[in-house]
Amino acid sequence: MQAERAVTIFEKSHPGRRAAMLPPLDVPDRDPADLLPAAALRKRAARLPEIAEPEIVRHYNRISRRNFDLDSGFYPLGSCTMKHNPKLHERAAALPGFSRLHPLQPAERAQGALELMWNFEHALAEICGLPHVCLQPSAGSHGELAGLLLTRAYHEDRGEHRTKVLAPDTSHGTNPASVTMAGFETVKVATNERGGVDLDDLRAKAGEDVACLMLTNPNTLGLFDENIEEIASIMHDVGATLYYDGANLNAVMGISRPGDMGFDIVHVNLHKSFTQPHGGGGPGSGPIAVSDRIAPYLPVPRIVRDDDGRFELSTNEPKSIGRMRGFQGNFGVFVRSYAYICSLGAEGLKAASETAVLNANYMLARGREGRVGKYLPVQFDRTCKHEYVLSAAPAKRELSVKALDIAKRLLDYGYHPPTIYFPLLVDEAMMIEPTETETPETLDGFVEALEKILAEAERDPEFVQNAPYTTPVRRMDEAAAARNPVVTQDLDALS
Ligand SMILES: *Cc1c(COP(=O)(O)O)cnc(C)c1O
Repeated sequence: MQAERAVTIFEKSHPGRRAAMLPPLDVPDRDPADLLPAAALRKRAARLPEIAEPEIVRHYNRISRRNFDLDSGFYPLGSCTMKHNPKLHERAAALPGFSRLHPLQPAERAQGALELMWNFEHALAEICGLPHVCLQPSAGSHGELAGLLLTRAYHEDRGEHRTKVLAPDTSHGTNPASVTMAGFETVKVATNERGGVDLDDLRAKAGEDVACLMLTNPNTLGLFDENIEEIASIMHDVGATLYYDGANLNAVMGISRPGDMGFDIVHVNLHKSFTQPHGGGGPGSGPIAVSDRIAPYLPVPRIVRDDDGRFELSTNEPKSIGRMRGFQGNFGVFVRSYAYICSLGAEGLKAASETAVLNANYMLARGREGRVGKYLPVQFDRTCKHEYVLSAAPAKRELSVKALDIAKRLLDYGYHPPTIYFPLLVDEAMMIEPTETETPETLDGFVEALEKILAEAERDPEFVQNAPYTTPVRRMDEAAAARNPVVTQDLDALS
């Protein structure tokens, strides 16, 4: 199947076509120039497509079908936790009392929303094992930045100036990026042969100039660090804070808690573990939970409850780092994630994590046999948590097909590829995370597709190297797309 060329909505535009007709004006017709300052007025009319309603619907519906999404197929994108987004949550978030709330509504008129946020904060505090929660950050990476600013405020308040942040070489790219944004220097810590933190390297680098250790546990190899208590005590001994990247919380909800492991700050990706749709489905959210010693510095406003059970937004926190963003955060996300926690309950969350781990280990075990085991071995071969990382290095060496080629061919089999080329320390990495809601047939089907692709590569490597064949676009020049992104349309060239 060769798909039709993508036509923009501007190319479909015809002057005078309309989706809606407005009734005649029944208020005085005023010149905008009399009402608005000159700087706020357009120099020329906005260039909008002129198109009939059915054509708009068809246009966007057609585009949506050219995409691959969670509701159309298996999406085992490691580290991202592409879990099912229950539709019930959409109904909760669409309730008019939530969806039509104005962010500037006074607190006394938004008691229900504040109560939901208060309850949600307490649920996250329980899950993380840390007593204070701030819902403001808009993503996991934004939570990281908040955590590092909190770390700085904490040390400065004690009269200490620390410049370094330690992070393992398996860490997600946002970790060093956040460190740099917060004005610290990243120092990498090596990984040992079990896939955990190399304790000798950690001890060598842990000094009085270290502000914080950022750690993901289970890490991006899907492995739980067995030395976590030792790691925490090394860092506490030098007075550093411990930051837990909670992106992999889907492996441990209700089973182990970052607070109990000795962490001071955690971010939670609501668009990962807590079912908020990713990307085009809506905004994300990365609340943070912190220990008592970090709490005085948390962003404002804080939600407080008075003795009569009434909620207020308090900015009266003298040591606060200030605001991380406008208003209180992405409220609709809170509603969906709170709905998820309420519908599963404590036992249900634990069962979700246990099933996610079971599914990953089932796939890992099935893949130990046959061609998958031969050409895509797992580098750190242990019981995994919610995800595991294969290496396509033998496939590249013996069959001349890379992780990228296999990923592209998976699209022809109807599966979204796993994350590839991350974490960086695994050559030709393929990081697979099935999540908890997939059927055994789907898990089997994916492993069997890998098996078939490797058989194809044995017969005809070029065939796999040129995949995909059935998608709306074939291989793209990804380097050029990243270096020279076309982010605007030359509208004049189209008309
Ligand atoms: C996704 C992810 C992040 C960043 O979270 P965003 O919400 O995408 O900003 C950080 N660390 C790890 C391990 C992740 O998987």
